Amino acid sequence: MFPFAYTKVADTREALAAGQRGGRYIAGGTTLVDLMRETVERPEAVVDISALPLRDITTTRDGGLRIGALVRMSEAAADRQVRGAFPVISEALELSASAQLRNMATIGGNIMQRTRCTYFRDVSAACNKRRPGSGCAALDGFNRTHAILGTSSQCVATHPSDVAVAFAALEASVRLLGPGGERTVPFADFLLQPGTTPDREQALQRGELITAVEIPAHPRPLWSGYLKVRDRQSYEFALTSAAVALHVQDGVIRTAKVAAGGVGTVPWKLPAVERYLVGKRPSDALWTEAAERAADGAKPLTHNGFKVELLKRTVARQLRVVGGTR
Ligand code: SF4
Repeated sequence: MFPFAYTKVADTREALAAGQRGGRYIAGGTTLVDLMRETVERPEAVVDISALPLRDITTTRDGGLRIGALVRMSEAAADRQVRGAFPVISEALELSASAQLRNMATIGGNIMQRTRCTYFRDVSAACNKRRPGSGCAALDGFNRTHAILGTSSQCVATHPSDVAVAFAALEASVRLLGPGGERTVPFADFLLQPGTTPDREQALQRGELITAVEIPAHPRPLWSGYLKVRDRQSYEFALTSAAVALHVQDGVIRTAKVAAGGVGTVPWKLPAVERYLVGKRPSDALWTEAAERAADGAKPLTHNGFKVELLKRTVARQLRVVGGTR
């Protein structure tokens, strides 16, 4: 281990001041402490924000949901409002990590998770995300679990969060608080694709604090759910996943929200699938036809070509689970 300063703050003003001085925020600690132990991250100062009043789940004025950044994953998964309106969020959370981790990890921390790329976590390996300009060991290494969408010549790592896939599908936004006040960033703009700066992962300014994730209102009834395909049934990251939400009225799909996980450098929204579904009547054939568009633009690496077909099948299956068999 290495020396670092630890401060526990009591209010947001104190947190922002510490963040401005370069302190790293910590709440559940389930990501940052691991990375510090492995010396992948070596912050000089850690700011404990776990006592801040950001632990509520409330209904917004337009009928959406606001989930405080410090709500524990297990609390959000079990919440009556979340389960009632957006089962896709509860299911994504329940399929993540272990029960012990879900009891500690927060919603804000979950979307800030860093990649599970093994080279990123091996400080002896070349990794542009950990050490910009050092190269990418995954490009010529073992890249079976890596991304096929949103990659660059600098980085091909996937984003590991499940609930972020549900947030992307539902077109959530992230509420941020900084020295200049509050702002809202659409979820699609919050997590950044690697491009030429894979070390920059979120659209956060220095010292900004995530206060909540907001899910907009969607037409009711909204059927939704999350499917995660992985090498083993527990405590494993997604090879592919699909978050699906559908609103069907008078036998016609009026709204379709679909995103995929395990395949992109960020949670991957599937607009071509959504467009194909809207205005059509649910049917087995439709789910398969729509899912054919799920891997548009994919660029497989040496060892992960199987993800192209697996992604299409994952999306087709979850469309069928949510939209029904006809
Ligand atoms: Fe690092 Fe990204 Fe390459 Fe993994 S894929 S080694 S995180 S640069």
